[in-house]
Amino acid sequence: MEQLEEYIRGLKKNRFQVEYFETGKEFVDYAIRNLPTKASIGFGGSMTLEQLHLYERLSEAGFNIYWHWRNSEIIDMKERALNADIYFSSANAVTKDGKIINMDGTGNRVANTFYHHEEVFIVCGINKLVETVDEGIARIEQIAAPKNAQRLGVNTPCVVTGVCTDCTSKDRICNVLTIIEKNTNSNINVILIGEELGY
Ligand code: SF4
Repeated sequence: MEQLEEYIRGLKKNRFQVEYFETGKEFVDYAIRNLPTKASIGFGGSMTLEQLHLYERLSEAGFNIYWHWRNSEIIDMKERALNADIYFSSANAVTKDGKIINMDGTGNRVANTFYHHEEVFIVCGINKLVETVDEGIARIEQIAAPKNAQRLGVNTPCVVTGVCTDCTSKDRICNVLTIIEKNTNSNINVILIGEELGY
């Protein structure tokens, strides 16, 4: 907990709103109680959000959600998410001094994390907490990106070896690296959860 408080202090110093929940369920219940019912909500691709069943729980509660991982027959789902009032994503890493690190293939997810929304929620399990930016990038190369490439079944060397070789494959999923250093006009909330979530 002492360690966790350092991360919370670091994030707050960077003007992010921070909430901590022991369990994902506690966070989901909190979100249902506190999100504005009339707001439109966009989701970025995220195993964390998937594991939390956040789409299903918010949908059952009557929220209007745009997620390209659901309703994939609707071709403009990413644009609808882009234009939503609120956006949910996870992070690939959060540093002790309060920086949010993400890697993306097409860039839609990361762009939505800092621009164009009234409010953004970055949901992050404790497995994503790292000491430094370098450690966060190493975490992406060694864990998050190879696992995501395997999940997507793309044609990259890491799918076979589980190791990043900084490939030049046309299927490469590591094209846009973002480090959010301070809060933006998108009013970013970091939700820390005391469980392992996502990659
Ligand atoms: S750069 Fe290429 S090899 Fe490395 S993790 Fe990304 S897709 Fe895999």
